[in-house]
Amino acid sequence: MDSLDKYDSLERAKKLIQDNTPTSLRYACLELRYCIESICHAKLKLYEKHLTNSDFETWKPKKILETLQEYDPLVWEDSEVAFFSEKSDGTRGDFLIGGKHTNLPIGILKRHYYKLGRFLHIPTLSQQKNGVMSSHDLKSYLESLLPAISATVSNVMDCNMALVAECKCKDCGNIIIRNIDSLKNKPVAICTNEECKAEYDVTVADDKTIWKKRELDFECPKCKKKNYFGAHLLTDGKVINCFSCSSKFVFFQKWHYQELPEKKT
Ligand SMILES: [Zn+2]
Ligand SMILES: [Zn+2]
Repeated sequence: MDSLDKYDSLERAKKLIQDNTPTSLRYACLELRYCIESICHAKLKLYEKHLTNSDFETWKPKKILETLQEYDPLVWEDSEVAFFSEKSDGTRGDFLIGGKHTNLPIGILKRHYYKLGRFLHIPTLSQQKNGVMSSHDLKSYLESLLPAISATVSNVMDCNMALVAECKCKDCGNIIIRNIDSLKNKPVAICTNEECKAEYDVTVADDKTIWKKRELDFECPKCKKKNYFGAHLLTDGKVINCFSCSSKFVFFQKWHYQELPEKKT
């Protein structure tokens, strides 16, 4: 099997673009997708300690891109990094290694990952009717991607500088991880377990976090006991059982209306 390393994929893509035949250009799309996937996997490895084995084994590029952005909104930003030795008194010593770290912004990475994917399939009949991209235009498009992808691939160092907070989900035990900076902007976290999706309001103070699960309480009209339900479970038409007397209730949302103020023309 060919190497799926990002450097090798990129080199193969460059060669295929140079060959400049309709077939080689299509294969160049595949190699550039491999290259983007390889970049994503390298990033994911930086967050290994926060992830479970199953995350590593099953995650697809789309999920990786979205999760990494959630953990660390700056993960795809360019940055300058420098490392210094530490003197015996704890002060900064000599410069050791450093440099500019170039990243493809997540929006660009996602957009081109999917756009490249379109060339891996036979165009639909409607696309064929409307005209498909010519080989000349495809070559220009692929060449336009090379500088940014090459810069990201040639990074010799990569690091995770995110300050993250963790919470064990009360419902399923999944560890939910969020970048503290992103929580300051949007103080809500949803459990990443697809089967669970419990919602938490998170308060950040002095880089410490307090996680409160969104719950609704409901007093059973029959036994008068208080029931608590995760807000994420309550949808229109949802049937709930009282935990104490097992009476069944259906949850529904009421529609309200109000008069709109007249528009001034
Ligand atoms: Zn959960
Ligand atoms: Zn009851």
